Amino acid sequence: MLNLVLFGPPGAGKGTQSQKLIEKYQLVHLSTGDILRGEITQGTTLGLEAKKLMDEGLLVPDAVVIGMISNKLDANKDAKGFIFDGFPRTVAQAEALDGLLASKNDSISGMIALEVNDDELEHRLLLRGKESGRPDDANPEVIRKRIVEYNSKTAPVANFYKAQAKFKSINGIGSVDDIFHSVCGVIDTL
Ligand code: AMP
Repeated sequence: MLNLVLFGPPGAGKGTQSQKLIEKYQLVHLSTGDILRGEITQGTTLGLEAKKLMDEGLLVPDAVVIGMISNKLDANKDAKGFIFDGFPRTVAQAEALDGLLASKNDSISGMIALEVNDDELEHRLLLRGKESGRPDDANPEVIRKRIVEYNSKTAPVANFYKAQAKFKSINGIGSVDDIFHSVCGVIDTL
C-alpha cells in the first residue's frame, strides 16, 4: 500500500495536489477538513460542535478526528492506499494513526511537506476565501489564528516522521504542475 501524509500549513496546496495524486496513483483521499465540512452541511451534532472551533481557526479535539479516520480506514478495506490531507495535525494524531495502520499490518510510506512562507499563505487563503465561501478563509484574524495553531501544534508532527526517516520536503511555490512533478519524484523514491 502507498500511504502518504501530505503536510503543510493551511493554503500550502495540499488539496490541489491530492486531487492530482488520487488520479495518478488511485488512492483514497482522506481530508479531515472535508469530512468535517460534510458533517456541518448535514447538520450533525459533531458538525455543529466542530463548526464553532473551525470558525475560530482552532483545531477540533484529537479524539473526534481520530475516530473519523478510523471509520474511513474500515470503510475502505480494498484501497490501494490513502492520502492523508490535513491529518495528522498533532503528535497525538500521528501516534494514533500509526497504531490504526499497525493494527491492519500497514504503515505510513512517507510524509511529503509543501513549504510555503506565511505571507504567501495569507495571500492565497484570502483569495481562496472569495471563491470557496469558507468562513475560516474570509477573515484575516482567523487565518492568522490557523497559522499560529499550525506552528504550535502541527509543525512538530514533522519531527515525528523525521524520527522514522519518512519526512520529505519540497518547495510549495510555483506552478501546480511543477509542484506535482516534484511530489511524484519524491513518491518514486519511497
Ligand atoms: P482544513 O480544511 O484542513 O484547512 O481544515 C479546516 C479546519 O478543520 C481546521 O482549521 C480545523 O479547525 C479543522 N480540522 C481539520 N482537520 C483537523 C485535524 N486533523 N485536527 C484538528 N482539527 C482539524
